[in-house]
Amino acid sequence: MLWSYLALTLGIAALASAKQTRLQFSQSEALLTSPSDVPLAATSKELLYLHRHLIEIESITENEYEVGKWLASYLESKNFTVEMQEVSPKRFNLLAYTGKTSKTPVLVSSHIDTVPPFWPYKHNHTSGITSGRGSVDAKGSVAAQIIALISLQEELPPSAVSLLFVVGEETGGDGMRYFSANAPHSYDAVIFGEPTEGKLVCGHKGMLSFTIKVQGKAAHSGYPWLGVSANDVLAEALEKMLKLRQHLPWSEKYGNTTMNIGRVEGGVAANVVAEAAKAQFAVRLAAGTPTVVKGMIVSALQGVKARVEELGGSLEIEWGSEGYPPVDINCDVKGFDKITVNYGTDIPNLKGTHKRYLYGPGSIFVAHSDHEALKFEELERAVIDFKKLILVTLEKQK
Ligand SMILES: [Zn+2]
Repeated sequence: MLWSYLALTLGIAALASAKQTRLQFSQSEALLTSPSDVPLAATSKELLYLHRHLIEIESITENEYEVGKWLASYLESKNFTVEMQEVSPKRFNLLAYTGKTSKTPVLVSSHIDTVPPFWPYKHNHTSGITSGRGSVDAKGSVAAQIIALISLQEELPPSAVSLLFVVGEETGGDGMRYFSANAPHSYDAVIFGEPTEGKLVCGHKGMLSFTIKVQGKAAHSGYPWLGVSANDVLAEALEKMLKLRQHLPWSEKYGNTTMNIGRVEGGVAANVVAEAAKAQFAVRLAAGTPTVVKGMIVSALQGVKARVEELGGSLEIEWGSEGYPPVDINCDVKGFDKITVNYGTDIPNLKGTHKRYLYGPGSIFVAHSDHEALKFEELERAVIDFKKLILVTLEKQK
């Protein structure tokens, strides 16, 4: 059995209060003239509460257990059925739905892991600014998606939408990959939540990562001809890469492919000929495929590789995960500003022919930083926009 159902016990008191909250929602919603109207006070309060709790529980990748457990019980208190899918020991994806089945036409998804380090929750009532790790990436999306779906429940047909919150997005997407391999069925449309400044994303760049590893031969620095300097060889390789990156594929839609040399290390001391050296790269593809760019990298390094091998050393390229080309995303919904982005998401990790949408509150420019923060009004706007996206995608399926 791929899915393990964890019965999360709820106290009578929790149940009673959940029913009350639910009642408040339906009363509030009854006052709305249209589902996309401004959220009322009760919804805003719940949004603030949910966002705060998600941020307060540290969930750096590999450590998502506590936040997942809390979120599962929260969703159960809102009458969702929650399935917990074990990705690795003590790491769970959550799949939540209110009807009889998780086989819904529309899936709404985001991730519950964050990058390190943890920054505590802070909320300034005057400015309305909430800060803390994950406030933007992606607990802002998680909270807004849930509140959006809860406040739509009265008007949606049963088994229309399910929620998926995955682990491991920040380090290669093992959560979404696992879900993809074991998904209950194929969806018509999936709405992904990541910081997009409240805009609808029409596509994001592709990704390829690799490491150049050089093995040389150590010697006394006074007699360098007795060794093979791995640092010298790596410096040559780096020069080739700097040249190559001027000639990588580009497109009108995504601009230039960029190549970042993120980490370089080599040698042990100034007076020792370096025995080993390596450099790590991340390429953001604006066009072409990982295979094409891999070919360009291999041929650019051919000469350097041959020379170091003649001297008895070696140069190897170690490819990261398989990589992916630019990802085109559906953005055929009226009333949104539209953009393309340069960061990766879990979108290519969920295989299938479903339509894909990408939207979320907050800016990628503060995500992963020590000043990650957003305004409460951005969260409220996201609730309205997620409701709209859910309704439009459901409408499109008819
Ligand atoms: Zn994210």
